[in-house]
Amino acid sequence: MVRDAAADVVVIGSGMGGSTFAWGLAQRGIDVLVLERGHRLPREPENTSAEAVFVHRRYKPHDTWYAEDGTPFAPGVHYVVGGNTKVYGSSLPRLRERDFEETAYPSGISPAWPFSYADLEPFYGMAERLYNVHGTTAEFEPWRSTPYPYPALEHEPYVAETLRRLREQGVHPTTTAMGVDLRPGGACIRCGTCDGFPCRWDAKSDAEVCALDPAVATGRVRLVTGAYVDRLETDASGRIVRAVGHLDGEPLEVTGDTFALAAGAANSAALLLRSGVANSSGLIGKRYMVHNNTHIAAIDPRRPNDVIFQKTACVNDFYDDMGDGYPGGTLQLIGKVQASMMKTHVTRAPLSLLKPMAARSMEWLVMTEDTPDAANRIRIDDQGRLRVSWQRTNYDRHEMLLAKARELLRAAGYVAVFEQRFDISMNSHMCGTAVAGEDPSASVVDAHCRSHDIENLYVVDSSFFPSSGAQNPALTIAANALRVAEQVPA
Ligand SMILES: Cc1cc2nc3c(=O)[nH]c(=O)nc-3n(C[C@H](O)[C@H](O)[C@H](O)COP(=O)(O)OP(=O)(O)OC[C@H]3O[C@@H](n4cnc5c(N)ncnc54)[C@H](O)[C@@H]3O)c2cc1C
Repeated sequence: MVRDAAADVVVIGSGMGGSTFAWGLAQRGIDVLVLERGHRLPREPENTSAEAVFVHRRYKPHDTWYAEDGTPFAPGVHYVVGGNTKVYGSSLPRLRERDFEETAYPSGISPAWPFSYADLEPFYGMAERLYNVHGTTAEFEPWRSTPYPYPALEHEPYVAETLRRLREQGVHPTTTAMGVDLRPGGACIRCGTCDGFPCRWDAKSDAEVCALDPAVATGRVRLVTGAYVDRLETDASGRIVRAVGHLDGEPLEVTGDTFALAAGAANSAALLLRSGVANSSGLIGKRYMVHNNTHIAAIDPRRPNDVIFQKTACVNDFYDDMGDGYPGGTLQLIGKVQASMMKTHVTRAPLSLLKPMAARSMEWLVMTEDTPDAANRIRIDDQGRLRVSWQRTNYDRHEMLLAKARELLRAAGYVAVFEQRFDISMNSHMCGTAVAGEDPSASVVDAHCRSHDIENLYVVDSSFFPSSGAQNPALTIAANALRVAEQVPA
């Protein structure tokens, strides 16, 4: 067991950012120690049980965060090896070129990134290979220098028929870029419990399976689980010298030459705020973003939905332009929702009603960009609790895309469309709490995600996002982690 340890690079958090970063460093022969507060998520029958995962919240941590008015809530986090990727939907699209540039919306600015799509493009390709992404080049996608590593997932007949109906409405649905192991001889069995569930067969391209375990296998990367990092300590020169916390209830102290934070956007910010470091900009915790997201259940009572693996299609026609010259976002199928999962949100509806509904519904995610606002922030209150101030931003774009989705689905035969708008607790796409930029007074880290203030401190999770775009974040987090791993001094 490790209590006092040392490494060339100490990585805090083993989610998408941390594990991919560790993998990138291992390729360069750098010794890495990954400190992860959680443990390995067990492979067990409950992995595929909607009751266990959604009703009894078996894999959710006992962690409570607080809204600014003091209302407690359970955040959308998973404290396990692999972080949120253990349950994510493994939809792995790239952001678009425009997402890296400044966009002026009617009600908010989406700031430019300090690097371009072209700078990240080779690393997107690397990340797609590391995470076994299946996809096909389609309209409304950005240019790519390397093909998708694996062919797109096939649509099941029910999905194919809906897409045909949508095409009749003039839109161009395409396949979703998915990270699942459907390679020849691959482990994926195309089951109905992928999105939101852990994979019992290690066939989902999560950070533990695709990046961390292969990194550990190189002999360069050590993983310590149950290692909670409370704060970082500096020496007189201002360099970080130690990560301090606890390991299974005992004190933990780890020294290193370089430290990389990858505890997730809220916890990385909280850790820096507790440590009182790297905040000359005053921006740590601020500009918290989560995307504007809504789940839709569209019901066609005449057509039972017999799909097993539903998450194969998306509609990006409105991504760059909603028809008024301003960007919209994406419509994306999600994993098939079961009645017991619906009941966790519509608690008063009886299962006897929800079962026939679920059998005839098709579920989508409507995702649009939220813009950064300093008032939307993570902070630590005087009792040491994590507080989240959050108001929706740029929401008129979301209303427009929702209206468009309803219109399209109704025209495609879905007579009823139910919505679940994401609230403060549904923050699984969180980002932006330690933004990257060229100007040290207006950003926390530089273009290579190194702290402007502290030479040996990097931030490699979603905290660095200067803006959120309107595509799922994980592939961009991974690509960026690979990019930054090439910059770290050996
Ligand atoms: C249900 C669900 C579905 C999703 N679907 C998709 C999808 O289809 N596509 C997509 O792109 N994204 C999806 N996401 C979001 C995606 O999983 C996240 O964007 C991504 O995992 C964030 O990566 P990260 O490295 O920033 O943080 P995380 O992956 O959350 O990793 C943070 C890690 O840090 C650890 N940690 C936290 N605090 C400490 C501490 N103090 N000390 C030590 N360790 C610490 C945590 O335990 C965790 O392992 C989904 C998320 C959820 C919850």
